[in-house]
Order: sequence, then structure tokens, then C-alpha cells
Amino acid sequence: MPSSEPTLKRLKKLASTLAATYPDAKCELNFESPIQLLVAVILSAQCTDKRVNLVTPTLFRRCPDARTLAEIPQKDLEEMIHSTGFYRNKAKMIRACCRAVTERFRGRVPDTMKELITLDGVGRKTANVILNVVWGKDEGVCVDTHVLRLAGRLGLSRETTPEGVERDLMRLFSKEQWGDVSHWLIWHGRRRCFARGPDCPGCEVRRLCPSAKIFMEKSKKPLRGAPKSGRSPPRDFPERRQLSHGRSSTNPQRRRNRIMARKPNAAFMKPVQPDAALAAVVGSKAIPRTELTKKLWAYIRKNGLQDKKNKRNINADDALKAVFGGKKVVSMFEMTKLVNKHVK
Ligand code: SF4
Repeated sequence: MPSSEPTLKRLKKLASTLAATYPDAKCELNFESPIQLLVAVILSAQCTDKRVNLVTPTLFRRCPDARTLAEIPQKDLEEMIHSTGFYRNKAKMIRACCRAVTERFRGRVPDTMKELITLDGVGRKTANVILNVVWGKDEGVCVDTHVLRLAGRLGLSRETTPEGVERDLMRLFSKEQWGDVSHWLIWHGRRRCFARGPDCPGCEVRRLCPSAKIFMEKSKKPLRGAPKSGRSPPRDFPERRQLSHGRSSTNPQRRRNRIMARKPNAAFMKPVQPDAALAAVVGSKAIPRTELTKKLWAYIRKNGLQDKKNKRNINADDALKAVFGGKKVVSMFEMTKLVNKHVK
């Protein structure tokens, strides 16, 4: 993480470059009234704006104002916002928040930080969005996951909490820029400075970014002893795992891949005999387990059994029901476990 405090000159250049790059930067949530924006911001926690914008038109058609949003039954609301994740909590917060707006503020979304943060589901981040976008007030900087990440990479803050980063950004930029700074950083985080694999070579603020060099060197640096040709190293290359995965992981699928990379002839590669149910899907001859798993995935894809909305979820129906008993299979690892239960 870069450590130097940004100079005034660098800050000015950074602000002018970001302003020139994103002249139309604005809140990307769709809304037609302050209460709709408030609800959309609550829904956007741990979810993309794109997904929220898919959900809100139906919701706002049925519940256009605070009163109707407060009165909608919990179950109905949960169903409508299901795809945004954490839907039970979000539904509870939205209903409580809209009830408070109706009862305490006569249906009008408050225009002060003090009042806004008394509402359920509203913290400084949400309050800053409402104040800036709806009421045109700059009382702070909205720090979401993109702003948090970019502030560190651009050397604007060494803090790791939203509150700390907000304090630093408020100190570094003028009050008139507070609203814009968060839009610029959010847009840059979505379009260039991705959480994984930032596009530093194409980045407009590369020359002003203390992290650019680190990321660019990391992406091209070969590991000690790696072949120079740029091709992937042989299986027995000791640092293969590091090269292919970057860092250790607790993800069971990755763990399994690593084991497979290390021990290509391990026991689970031994041929197995599919039982009657599996035979319906993969045929009846003995095949290696890994082959079996591959065949099942091919079958799932070919027959469109994969849930299109969430690629990790697979609806095991028809022939697969016979194999998995109608269960939803959530990962290759789990599927292999189920397959192994069915093989002799
Ligand atoms: S140079 Fe790289 S790390 Fe720095 S802001 Fe641009 S994309 Fe992000």
C-alpha cells in the first residue's frame, strides 16, 4: 500500500483528470423520488446497481411512496427483492425505515445527516448519497467498497474503515468536491480499477497513482525458476500452485484443483463403475471419476439444466434428479461428493 501523503499538486491533477474522464459521473441507481432513492440505496448493499435497477421498477410500481412501502407485507417484499441478496434483513429495514419516514417526517425524506442516520438501514454512506443526490448538500463523502479500495490504491488514505477514509477524503478535497469525489472514484472503480486485476496500463490516472507500478510489476513478474517462454510451467514445477492461483485459498474447489495439480494419479482418479442412475446420464462403462464429473457438467450444460441467473446454482432435474435426488448442487466440489456417493 502506498505510504506517501499526496501533494497538493498531485491532488489537483488527480481531481482534474478524473473530472475530465468522468464528466457525467452520477449516481447510477434509477429513482423518481427521494424515498425511492433511499430504498434503492438500502437495496444496493452487497449488490450491484445494475441488479437493483432490475428489481426496483416492479417494486416502485406497486409501492411508489413511503406509506405503501411501509405497509407492504414482509413476505411480498422479500419475494420482490430476493435477487439483491440479504433480502430478509433488507425487507425489514426498508419497511421500518419507510414507517419512520411516514410517521416521524410525514412522508418526506429528511435533509439533514442527524435525522437521516436515525432511520433504520441508514448509515453515513446512505445519508451522504441522499444529501448529495437529492438535496444537493455536501456534508461528507460517500465511502462504498470502490471508494474504500481506490482511496488506498491512490494513496489518499491509509485508513481501512469507511469512517477513517471519509475523514481523510474530506480533509484532502474541498467541500464542493466531496460529492464528485465519491462519484469519480466509484465510476473509476467500476470501469478501470477493478478489485481484482486493475487495468493499470489503460488507466487515465496511472501517472498519479502510487500503486500502478506495484500492480504492473506484479502482473508481469515471473516467479523465480519459472520458464522464460511465458508458457505455463510443467506440472512438477514447485511453484506451479502459486503461479496458477496467486495465493492460498480456503475455497474447496480451488483446494481440490490444487490437489489435482499436485497429484495427477491420486486415488480419486481411479476408474469407477457408474451405477444404474448414473448410467442413464454417462453410459455404463467404467470411467475415471474426474471424467465422470466432466461428463455430468457437459450434460448439465447441454441440457440447459444450469440456472442462468446464478451460474453457481444448478437445478438437478429429470435425469439428474435420479442421480442427486432433486437436490440443488452448488459447486463442482459438492457435485463430485454426490457423484462419489453413487459410484461403487
Ligand atoms: S493505476 Fe491501477 S491501481 Fe492506480 S488507479 Fe489506475 S487502475 Fe487503479
